[in-house]
Amino acid sequence: MAIYLDNAATTPVAAEVLSAMLPFFSTHYGNASAKYYELGKVARRAVNKARQQIARLLNAEISADEDQPSEIIFTSGATESNNWVMQNAPLMTGKKHLITSAVEHHSILDVGKFMVKYHGCRLTILPVDNYGIVKIAELANAISDDTALISVMLANNETGTLQPLAEIAALAKKQHILLHTDAVQAMGKIPVDVKKLDVDFLSLSGHKFYAPKGIGALYCRRGIKLPALMNGGGQEKSRRAGTLNVPAIVGLGQAAELAISPAEAQRQSELVEELWNGLSKNIPHIYRNGHSEKRLPNILNVRVDGAEGEAILLRLDMCGIQVASGSACSTDSLEPSHVLLAMGIAQECAHGSLRFSLSKDTTRDDLAKVIKIVPPQIAIIRAMSPTWSA
Ligand code: PMP
Repeated sequence: MAIYLDNAATTPVAAEVLSAMLPFFSTHYGNASAKYYELGKVARRAVNKARQQIARLLNAEISADEDQPSEIIFTSGATESNNWVMQNAPLMTGKKHLITSAVEHHSILDVGKFMVKYHGCRLTILPVDNYGIVKIAELANAISDDTALISVMLANNETGTLQPLAEIAALAKKQHILLHTDAVQAMGKIPVDVKKLDVDFLSLSGHKFYAPKGIGALYCRRGIKLPALMNGGGQEKSRRAGTLNVPAIVGLGQAAELAISPAEAQRQSELVEELWNGLSKNIPHIYRNGHSEKRLPNILNVRVDGAEGEAILLRLDMCGIQVASGSACSTDSLEPSHVLLAMGIAQECAHGSLRFSLSKDTTRDDLAKVIKIVPPQIAIIRAMSPTWSA
């Protein structure tokens, strides 16, 4: 069987998640907006439960009163959640300056550019250091009276490197600036507590932690008047109209219950170190991208001189190993990763980067095979390269 090590791109739906969802496709197929008969009420209760499960995972406020707006709004995923916040920050504040970082996902960076082009906003893209960590002094310098929003991710999707959110939040709060974080890769892997993080908004996506694709959520701190994303039937307290995707929402809630324990995080983190030790012992001119300690437990990103990422992926796929080069979200383009370039890695080296991302199902045995298979494949690619000479 193939060894799948691209869990930062997507994860399989967990068995518990699937079985929680299944009845809501057929037996409990009611519309969650139908308040007055049992079929609708069952769906409504299930949505409510899922909202509470997500709220608990995030330490968000849970109101017993269903009629109160919740801090959790279900969306189609993090691209939607990110767009929603970025596009509405100027409307919420009457200010036109957005701040983000050079290593964000395109669903932040491209929206920022869109806001500049079509809404007359000013965008500051903060530089990062060689590990991919935002330079706090640059943030302090960038803040102005016109700053509407700061959006910095909790953990990077390519390298797993963590950002100093506490320091960022301290600056944002001091200046009364809205703060958003894209917590997609962190969810379920490290504790994510909206109160400790002191953020106003947080995006998450189900398919990165064993729920289905096409479901996610936006945390919006109570009291913030977020303009509606879609108007219509009044769902999600008139903030996002449209019939709720009950099975997917139930799956998202169930996935929240599977968030990994400290022991499982430790297991994955140790496996990542073993993988790095095994690869670096057997492959000359291999380097680690990102921070080796301030990181998620499940991601290892490396660059190998003298070998194209795409060539490595194809050869590894033939050997039954599925990994990513750069970010799977942008593998349609052969552009080198903007994250690695922002970290000061040269174009040709960024091209030769690989991301291994583990899951709860990854075993030590899997990684032993990877450590055995990858080095000779790199050697073959290098031997064919007209430019490689070590
Ligand atoms: N942000 C990050 C950091 C991601 O890794 C991803 C998914 N690649 C997204 C946002 C987009 O999430 P979704 O697939 O739910 O739209």
